[in-house]
Amino acid sequence: MVRTRIAPSPSGFLHIGTAKTALYNWLFARKNNGTFILRLEDTDAERTDEQYVHGMCEGFKWLGIDWDEGPPFGDVPEKGNYGPYRQSQRKELYQKMAYQLLEQGKAYKCFCSKESLESYKDETGNLYYPGFCRNLTPDQIIEKGNAPYVIRFRVPEGETIVNDLIQGTVYFKNSQYDDFIILRANGDPVFHLAVVVDDITMKITHVIRGDDHLTNTPRHIMLFNALGASLPHYAHHPLVHDEQGRKFSKRLHGANVLDWRDDGYLPEAIVNYVALLGWTSEEENREFFTLPDLIEHFSIERINKSAARFDRKKLEWLNGLHIRNLPVENLRERLLPILEKHGFNTSVKTKDWLSKLAQICQEKLPTLNRVVFLADFLFKDFDIYETEAEAKLWKSPETIIIYFKNIQDKLSTVSTWQHDLLKTVFENACTELNIKLGALVNPTRLALTGKSIGPGFFELMELLGKEKTIERLSRAIEYLQNKGGITRE
Ligand code: GLU
Repeated sequence: MVRTRIAPSPSGFLHIGTAKTALYNWLFARKNNGTFILRLEDTDAERTDEQYVHGMCEGFKWLGIDWDEGPPFGDVPEKGNYGPYRQSQRKELYQKMAYQLLEQGKAYKCFCSKESLESYKDETGNLYYPGFCRNLTPDQIIEKGNAPYVIRFRVPEGETIVNDLIQGTVYFKNSQYDDFIILRANGDPVFHLAVVVDDITMKITHVIRGDDHLTNTPRHIMLFNALGASLPHYAHHPLVHDEQGRKFSKRLHGANVLDWRDDGYLPEAIVNYVALLGWTSEEENREFFTLPDLIEHFSIERINKSAARFDRKKLEWLNGLHIRNLPVENLRERLLPILEKHGFNTSVKTKDWLSKLAQICQEKLPTLNRVVFLADFLFKDFDIYETEAEAKLWKSPETIIIYFKNIQDKLSTVSTWQHDLLKTVFENACTELNIKLGALVNPTRLALTGKSIGPGFFELMELLGKEKTIERLSRAIEYLQNKGGITRE
């Protein structure tokens, strides 16, 4: 039975890289009818903040990465039989394991102060404990009385082999690891102990995580061995890089998964994009995947070894594809909060009207937020016209006024305000004026919307309604008369 987990430290928002790790674990579990676990690595009380816990869980939920076991969140109580799922609530267990290793001689008490060890470093400049307390005799330990101590793991000689499902077989000399601390003087566990104890007791079968943890893995394997537990399978995937090829900094907009929600991206698109940041399908060149597609096609074997670069343009393109893939009613429901947020009162519109709005925008939305640009004129009047469009489309105000009056007259007699019929009315006017359809439609679009681009013209006019259309034409005529210096009739 496959059991995977995501084990974030809630010391920040849900980072795009953590989302990727979560997604791979989740997909692997779902594909194999396994269990996906959320575990919070919150032992560092100073860095943990409930606001981050909330933000992370919300981020996973938004992405559709649901967990089968995990801590309580909102109204949902803790789920699963291997809890608690917050490390801060599991301290006794870590202490028990640390003391078990101590009794077995696989760990030892170290009385050295932090300050006294500051000058001991390895070749790369990292602190390296030289093992001063490694061989203290029982008498020497008794002599220390109540002096504070940490518990250090006695790193065995030899080498440790990581059989990684992505990186292949990687050899590590144990001598590159010092006798690392597993339990601090205050009784708090160190990450390495906590993660291993949790992975053992939660019966994790596959550890899929960022390759920044690869060098930690030998420590973890040594601890698994010392505790007599069998190893999970390891798979270390590459980190996400930003567009400059650097580690995706927390400070960049978009590092927080929920930034994308604010920007009008669909969770479906983020999940699709994040999956592709390091994984390719067996179907060459296929890039569009829904969550069920991903579950069907995902495999650890097809995760790349090298880091993927974030590409906003590609994400935007995928987002557009996912928007077009939505049923219209579904898109409508997602657009409503955005329109409301911008002060457009959608409650005065019918569902049918709103669905039509979603439909006419669907093809033109790279993001949901773009609906504000595409549809604002349907909710509020405006008094400026796009300057460039005005110069181009209303170059000769006198002629445009003639066009507008002609079409306005015709429109005022239309009784069924429907886009196909409206098109016929425009075609008739163009025949009469001896101009092409575009020569009338484009200037009229500017009069009705204030813009030169937007949704389908006759469809938007249907939604704008007869009264507003006639009114906006009058306003444009008046504007052009003032501009052209022509006195009103
Ligand atoms: N808290 C660790 C991290 O966020 C988890 C490491 C692991 O998955 O084992 O990187």
